[in-house]
Amino acid sequence: MRINVTRSSMPSFEEYCEEIRSLWDSHWLTNNGEKHIALRAALCDYLQSPEVELFTNGHLALEALIAALDLKPGQIITTPFSFASTTHAIVRKGFMPVFADVKEDGTIDPECVEKLITPETRAILPVHVYGRLCDVEKLDEIAQKYGIPVIYDAAHAFGVTKNGVSAACFGTASMFSFHATKVFNTIEGGAITTKSRELAEKLALERNFGITGPEDVVSVGGNAKMNEFQAAMGLCNLRRIGEDIAARKAVHEAYMVELSGLPIGLTAEQPGVESNYAYFPAVFESREIRDAVCTALAEAGVFARKYFYPLINDFECYRDRFDSTLTPVAKRLADGVVTLPMYSDLAPEDVALICRVIREVLTHE
Ligand SMILES: *Cc1c(COP(=O)(O)O)cnc(C)c1O
Repeated sequence: MRINVTRSSMPSFEEYCEEIRSLWDSHWLTNNGEKHIALRAALCDYLQSPEVELFTNGHLALEALIAALDLKPGQIITTPFSFASTTHAIVRKGFMPVFADVKEDGTIDPECVEKLITPETRAILPVHVYGRLCDVEKLDEIAQKYGIPVIYDAAHAFGVTKNGVSAACFGTASMFSFHATKVFNTIEGGAITTKSRELAEKLALERNFGITGPEDVVSVGGNAKMNEFQAAMGLCNLRRIGEDIAARKAVHEAYMVELSGLPIGLTAEQPGVESNYAYFPAVFESREIRDAVCTALAEAGVFARKYFYPLINDFECYRDRFDSTLTPVAKRLADGVVTLPMYSDLAPEDVALICRVIREVLTHE
């Protein structure tokens, strides 16, 4: 038996086949087909966003967003405690990343952000890490004060709300990932949400070669379109998203019970926030203990992941360009963290097994 950190949500084989049947009639496989249009409308509704632009994956959506903002060359303030994509998008679009430290919950620290603002700062790119919302009010204040956009990497935040308001509604725009391992998947896929019609139009150009008509190409866009099979998977998975998140919540609660009393930093509820239970991060007191836990879990057939270790400012590709001792909270979290298996159909016995292994390691230290 093998338990991985995630397991992709899938509809029944029959449901997916029924969803894609019409593609054999139309022979329309990509470029704003009927599934794309239907998914976009359904997501505008679910994410409470007037504009949702779909992409072939979240990373290219983020690159398209950075390009579509038409910023002058300069710096973008971000967090080192994220997936490679966040900083890579900044660098690949020609900007200099500047790393702010995070708070104990792993989200960017607005005070650190404000200290790092210079005349060269062009944008702030925070991450709703593990689906925990950033301090959106403070970040918004900073954005207003300095007249710079905040764009969120909301790859983990699909379905998260704060006082009933969707995570898609904060800042200038937000990027969602619909990768197979995320709470909601279109196999691969992603989206940008924004209130701005103008920005949405620019994103559409970035996604499809800058083409506006059969004989009109108005900008140097790339290709990052979501195809009809991806959109069809999204339509199927969206039907069960409420049940999926409720099942994840039950897994989360089982972990909280099983791990209670152990010296582990666990997810505290954020006031007013309805979580999507995207991940179950557990923070141990040292890297040695965390690594011992990972080894013991692997021996039991449980493959947890160290999200996010190493920090981005410690990546080999960025070596000697950044100093991760300047982001000490992020460093400590990265050293202690492991994300335990989390998916909607993870069995209670498996949660019990995982927690038994962890308890054994901690009580023998
Ligand atoms: C998954 C992820 C991305 C990239 O999304 P893809 O759809 O895989 O390209 C970006 N940022 C974070 C934090 C992610 O977890």
